[in-house]
Amino acid sequence: MQTIIPTERLEQGRKVADTCVHFGFCTSVCPTYVLDHEENDSPRGRIALIKDMLAEGGKPPAATVLHVDRCLSCLSCATTCAAGVDYRSLIDTAREYIEQSGVRPLSERLKRKALSYIMTHPRLLSVATRAAHVAGGAAARLPGTLGTLARLSNARAVGAFAARGLGPDEGIRAGSLNAGKVTLLDGCVQSALGREINDAARRLLGRMGIEVVDSGLAGRCCGALDLHLGHRGAAQRHAARLVDTWHTLLEQGEIEAIVVTTSGCGSVIRHYSELFQDDPPRRERAARVEQACVDITQFLNARAQDLPLTSPIPARVAYHDSCSLKHGQKITREPRAVLGRAGFVVADIAENHLCCGSAGTYNILQPEIAARLGQRKAGNIEAVRPDIIAAGNMGCLVQISLYTDIPVAHTVQLLDWAAGGPPPRGMESFTPAAQPADEHAEDPLHNGAASAVPETSDLLW
Ligand code: SF4
Ligand code: SF4
Repeated sequence: MQTIIPTERLEQGRKVADTCVHFGFCTSVCPTYVLDHEENDSPRGRIALIKDMLAEGGKPPAATVLHVDRCLSCLSCATTCAAGVDYRSLIDTAREYIEQSGVRPLSERLKRKALSYIMTHPRLLSVATRAAHVAGGAAARLPGTLGTLARLSNARAVGAFAARGLGPDEGIRAGSLNAGKVTLLDGCVQSALGREINDAARRLLGRMGIEVVDSGLAGRCCGALDLHLGHRGAAQRHAARLVDTWHTLLEQGEIEAIVVTTSGCGSVIRHYSELFQDDPPRRERAARVEQACVDITQFLNARAQDLPLTSPIPARVAYHDSCSLKHGQKITREPRAVLGRAGFVVADIAENHLCCGSAGTYNILQPEIAARLGQRKAGNIEAVRPDIIAAGNMGCLVQISLYTDIPVAHTVQLLDWAAGGPPPRGMESFTPAAQPADEHAEDPLHNGAASAVPETSDLLW
């Protein structure tokens, strides 16, 4: 078997695997291990399998492929590991190795290619989603990937993001955009299924006087989906376009930050330079882009005093930490702080370190494990009796909405609502008087005293 992974990167992978000291602190926070207590479905077990695969070369054993495929890339293990094992780069290398080994049957390879193609082309994804809506329950009863895709396409959350009459410029005064310039990542899947999320971000930023510069990348994929499928070359091709365009805008002073509302994408963009290890000039440009990339809640929290929160809303919000925000970017305080400032009562969820099962294409490729994680997450959310569920990643909201009837919204949609924007679907008749007492009234993380919450120390733009 001949792979085209450079020898240095294979060696780097072996070195990363060697840093694991096998104590297994990570096992108790790994969603797949928590479900079944199978050592090979723990981080420690996977690291051992990957280490053998990279050392021995040749076609990987079926067991290695199975257990690597079952990994969510949630990085909960990396957050916990005291030895600092770079699990992110290791699992990416393992996935790439497996893809290049030719070990998958042709049908499986074609399915993965088709999935990545459809999901990274917003028009195609819109058509596929609409077709699934028309087919309704019949398509959802199909076995395998098609049925899973249909169930996800019919998820309540997909409809919940639909536009409701307010455009992205609503409420922005002409000539008032003089407080800064940023660009927003549209994303591929979000462009097809959740346009309303960035509309809310545009309204909010505009009311703060921030101009959102069009970088001409509408609907362009950041490469995250392909990277997690082991298609590194395709991921690089997607990412290269974004890196070069944004780098030019940054160098010309046209933008000061790249604001992201899809944490799955943000987590990958903030490690873009690793993707271009073998291309030094672009790696340098990617490093500049990484520094300028911020999650929307980081950006808003750093300018909390300028938030135009004209109508604070005391709704009870179960805030779900998406793995790509909590583990991938270490952002946990800012979303809670800005929601609190907007009057929301933020309820923390038990087991908030565990993935909901969305994880890019995971809920399509591993539907059985994803369903168990989704049900577990929904149960933990319902236990805190929220009015609404918020998260910083659309994929999580779609996944969670399959297992609960509680309304869902992106964090920025809630903030836009508190700034005069439309209520998220399911909250149109919300009345504050109906709310239970705030049990966290003394807690600055929960009651809106955002100024008491320290700013993130790693804001780099
Ligand atoms: S906590 Fe880190 S060093 Fe320990 S077993 Fe897990 S990955 Fe290895
Ligand atoms: S990335 Fe998540 S699923 Fe994969 S080994 Fe780590 S904790 Fe487990």
